[in-house]
Amino acid sequence: MAKRKIAVIGVGKIAQDQHLPVIDKSEDFELAATVSTRGLGHNGKPVFKTPAELYAAMPEIDLVAICTPPGIRHQYVREALDAGKDVMMEKPPTTTISELDDLIAYAKSLDRVLFQTWHSQYNLAVDRTRDILAADGVKSVRIDWRESVRKWHPGQDWVWEPGGFGVCDPGINALSIFTKVMPFPVFVQSSKLTFPANKQTPVDVEIVFKSGQIHQPTMSAGFNWLEESGEIWTIAFETVAGDSLKLEKGGTVLRVNDEIIVQAPSEEYERIYERFAELLDNHQSDVHAAPLRLVADAFLLGARVNAEPFEW
Ligand code: NAP
Repeated sequence: MAKRKIAVIGVGKIAQDQHLPVIDKSEDFELAATVSTRGLGHNGKPVFKTPAELYAAMPEIDLVAICTPPGIRHQYVREALDAGKDVMMEKPPTTTISELDDLIAYAKSLDRVLFQTWHSQYNLAVDRTRDILAADGVKSVRIDWRESVRKWHPGQDWVWEPGGFGVCDPGINALSIFTKVMPFPVFVQSSKLTFPANKQTPVDVEIVFKSGQIHQPTMSAGFNWLEESGEIWTIAFETVAGDSLKLEKGGTVLRVNDEIIVQAPSEEYERIYERFAELLDNHQSDVHAAPLRLVADAFLLGARVNAEPFEW
């Protein structure tokens, strides 16, 4: 079968690190064009400055992957849907819940496929954790998501602007795992947001969660963006049955009572593109709003703490 032609919109870090190389080796997709305000192309394919120019010049392209920051995603996704495209969008999907609700409804009204990628969900260890927790119950959860903003978002000023999410940009990855594996709904009980004095988004976030469960599991998360010793992307669970589970390295490794039971190389974007192909085959959308809702709730309930100014 011929490969599906796809255009990548926004040729920044994640497009260059993952989308373009994964499309290059995909059996399902081939790159048709890029849209880049800076004019960045790939493998000699056509480059357009705006999505509108792409849609006018190459109407035969049915698919787009929107890899921009979330602030302009609502506008770009609507424009793509209006042009009759099926759409994959990077995380976080939008900057507000209302925008995400609108995109879900709009895609449905136009009978187009809308796929929200939460890359951290695409790990075998995450699926295995979900199965164990469904069988054995959850007594406690502790999320520790710490990394260096200088390493992962070098010079990206948008992360510090309103709607840039701050440390919740990576933190939402942890919440995408959390909301996938938990066997019951979770809610924000309280949160503490620490802002650099010269920035609009937090550099450190602590969240306490609650649930409607009678046994009242204790659940909390800490996100920090000034960790220079290497990434700490772990989620530790105690089950009601008495085991300790630890998801490590961003969801790629699972330990049960200290013994590694799943360890797989990270192939998140390979699996994302496989999933997109499956959704297109079945003409189905897939949008999971829970991680964005939890982040929004953490901001709604956030107590503010002031910290030292941040400089790159
Ligand atoms: P980035 O390096 O800043 O790239 C975003 C690109 O979007 C820009 O380079 C620019 O590309 C384009 N763009 C179009 N309009 C823009 C605007 N108004 N402001 C800024 N950029 C604009 O960011 P990124 O790290 O790739 O992140 C993009 C999205 O992917 C975010 O939602 C992020 O959460 C997600 N993500 C990032 C990572 C990571 O490791 N950094 C991992 C997974 C997911 P052109 O110049 O080509 O137009």
